[in-house]
Amino acid sequence: MSKFSSLCNNIIDFGTKKSNTRTEKVVKITPHHMAGNILAGDCAKMHRDGNREASANYYIGSDGFIVGGVSEDRRAWTSSSGWNDQRAITIEVANNSGEPNWTVSDAAYKSLVKLCADICKRYGIDPHCTKTKDGTITYHQMFAATSCPGPYLKGKFDNGTFEKDIKAAMGGEQNKPEVSDVLYRVQVGAFKKADNARAMNDRIKNAGFDTYLIKVGDLYKIQVGAFAKKENAEAMEKQIRYFGFTDTFITTQSGAAVKLDGTAKKSNTEVAKEVIAGKWGNEPERSKKLKAAGYDAEAIQSIVNELMR
Ligand SMILES: [Zn+2]
Repeated sequence: MSKFSSLCNNIIDFGTKKSNTRTEKVVKITPHHMAGNILAGDCAKMHRDGNREASANYYIGSDGFIVGGVSEDRRAWTSSSGWNDQRAITIEVANNSGEPNWTVSDAAYKSLVKLCADICKRYGIDPHCTKTKDGTITYHQMFAATSCPGPYLKGKFDNGTFEKDIKAAMGGEQNKPEVSDVLYRVQVGAFKKADNARAMNDRIKNAGFDTYLIKVGDLYKIQVGAFAKKENAEAMEKQIRYFGFTDTFITTQSGAAVKLDGTAKKSNTEVAKEVIAGKWGNEPERSKKLKAAGYDAEAIQSIVNELMR
């Protein structure tokens, strides 16, 4: 089972792709820069599906969006050093400016600090940059001739700002639970027909999103996420739209969860034959059972009538 921080806004699981079994204990964190302003999910997909031998455990976008890529219990290919990456959780961070400063946005930096605080807590790491590979905060330039992580982040690592910020996050805010009565969800589609809902649901899942299927009235609705903060739902919506699902909106509406997977794969005609064979019992229970399984009971009944004529 893959292992990711609960702070992830989304997970684009690499599985065993572009990584190796981790043979060392996690004792370091290595933040990198993407050398571009790339959405976290896009960078993860580029790494996972592209030809370059590159990967990371996490990706952070300029919007502060955190995406899990290579599971924490696997060694990612990030820092040009097997020695380092076997011992480190690696994080790619988007830049909101190019050469020479390679700055990162405040939102991205905040997410980076939050994620590092979470990692430090879970692995018992004391965040400290010694400007050598022996510290617990390491960076790419220690292992290869590269501009990564760029002067902006490197400056914060070297002058102690970064570790101070992580420690503050570990002690403070991090412990406060988020309290909210309202949950924001991204709705991606609403369908009358279970088959259409299933097809859309599969497409969204294939794009790497976890979906919820709910039933409100006679509509199957596909939603992604449940966020206490509207900004997080909006960030998720942006990510989803980026994958070409543009008919989305933010909603606070919830509904009864329904499961379509595997249960309703048969055609109406097939089910009608089952009805005739007595597999679905008698009315009025039959209609209820059919509806619960995601079928259109009326449509099936009319096929049954046809077949029985
Ligand atoms: Zn790097």
